[in-house]
Amino acid sequence: MLVDLQASLNAGLLEAHGSLPSGHPRFHFDYIDSSRPNALAFGDEGISFIGITLPLIERLWQVSDRLARFDDIARHFNANGNTEKAQRLFNEFFGTLLTFVVGHERGHGLLGHRREIDPTPLWDGIVQTHGERDLQRQAREVDADGYGTYFTLVNVMRNRRDRIIRSLGFDGEKGDANKMLLKLFIVAAGGYFFTSTLFVVSDADIDTKTHPPQAIRMHYVMHAARQWCAEFEPGLESFLTVELFQTVMEALKRLRQSGTVQTFGYCSQNFLNLAPDALIERDLSKHMQRIRDTEGKGTLDNTGDAAG
Ligand SMILES: [Zn+2]
Repeated sequence: MLVDLQASLNAGLLEAHGSLPSGHPRFHFDYIDSSRPNALAFGDEGISFIGITLPLIERLWQVSDRLARFDDIARHFNANGNTEKAQRLFNEFFGTLLTFVVGHERGHGLLGHRREIDPTPLWDGIVQTHGERDLQRQAREVDADGYGTYFTLVNVMRNRRDRIIRSLGFDGEKGDANKMLLKLFIVAAGGYFFTSTLFVVSDADIDTKTHPPQAIRMHYVMHAARQWCAEFEPGLESFLTVELFQTVMEALKRLRQSGTVQTFGYCSQNFLNLAPDALIERDLSKHMQRIRDTEGKGTLDNTGDAAG
């Protein structure tokens, strides 16, 4: 499964970004042996490498497993109380999460956030939460999440679409299939952010973290998803309501309580109305406009027939 996913993601990256004159692909994704859960992007001789460490793979695996086997989540995909369907749902969550992490790192690569390879290349961790005082760095993470969202939605709604629909045994109409696929992404992203340790921040220490709080990241992911829908599946964005969001978040909250007990931070807040501008230096519209400018030029993979 891991080998297949790697091949399919690399095929998507090749289709979206092409090769260098040397014949090497511009982007290459691989697994990395390391003791830390981490994802990274770095450049070497013009090639943008995306690496995901095996402990992070394990974490994505666990998140997908918990999501797929939790009835409150599984019932959204008609997989509750059915071991075989839950296993298939697990596969789709896992593929979706892996795509999101690869897409996030691809975002760093495209935005020039990567560093040339150095002895300690694990400078960027999607799960790393402590580091230098640098809000700019947090803003980069939000940007990368936006790219990750676009990359994943193309993958889920286009490239892997038929496969997922078949796998989950969905036999509804196209519009309903779109909603189901979109929900798959939202639940996967939410599960990724909110089943790990939440970090509680205050205005006083917000700038001591390398990554924004999960609630802020999810907020931007929702906005990026809305934007993608508005551009590529017009009308579908109206499905991304506050109610849907809260339903998913409440299910995740119950899932957390069935595991280790931790506070759920921002769960009860209305994310779509949350004003994170005070916490992140640049405002939402700037982030989104930049993603739109870059992704919308047709040079990348959001046209619906590329990427993986
Ligand atoms: Zn990152």
